[in-house]
Amino acid sequence: MKISEIFLSIQGEGKRTGNLSFFIRTNYCNLRCKFTSGNLCDSPYTSWYPEDNYNIGEMMVDSIIAEYRKFKTQDIVITGGEPVIQMKDLNTLCRTLKFVNSKSNITVETNGTFFGEYTGYSDLISISPKMKSSVPEGTEFENLHQKNRINTESLKKYEQGFRDGLYDIQWKFVINDENDMEEIITLQNEIGFSNENIYLMPEGIKKSELKAKRNLVLELCRKYKMNFSDRLQILFWENERGK
Ligand code: SF4
Repeated sequence: MKISEIFLSIQGEGKRTGNLSFFIRTNYCNLRCKFTSGNLCDSPYTSWYPEDNYNIGEMMVDSIIAEYRKFKTQDIVITGGEPVIQMKDLNTLCRTLKFVNSKSNITVETNGTFFGEYTGYSDLISISPKMKSSVPEGTEFENLHQKNRINTESLKKYEQGFRDGLYDIQWKFVINDENDMEEIITLQNEIGFSNENIYLMPEGIKKSELKAKRNLVLELCRKYKMNFSDRLQILFWENERGK
């Protein structure tokens, strides 16, 4: 499996914020977010620059499990990059982690563009659909990103699995400004997810950037009756690796 980094840290976003977690960050992504602020995504070494020397590289699922056994936290977070593009390995990884610790709580963080059977061995599917404000305009990836960023069929399957009681779900949106809301509401109407599972988060890769947008996002949460999520990993470590 192509892995960027593995580390122990605190979950910084969404429903399980603050929980000690074993993080498995996969390498490579099918999208290339570049926000209207000019920031690339907060893990560009998995998407824009996956050849980064600090990425671990190829790792057998058994070796990842051996690392997990050293910590055996209840919370496990599989993130990226985009984990679901490595579908077969992800299925094996989630199934094996559940076998090793049946009491674990496995969160998979995905952009939602692919659906897979790993959901049968996961507890929380954390979907972060990418809005228009993430399109890397003027770059070689603009068309690819725009074409692939939303897959409504896949998103509907995720929502259906949640309604069938297979796992918990959260829909996290990175907010640049209020212009993002129209597209979020349109997507919500199309897929049918409820406000109680929506988390709005300020865009930024620096503390100062979160601070500048936090109040606006809080007000949007009040106005649209949605949840707020901060991004503790940025507050604590900005976008330092392995944290
Ligand atoms: S989908 Fe996620 S990992 Fe991929 S480029 Fe966007 S923010 Fe980065």
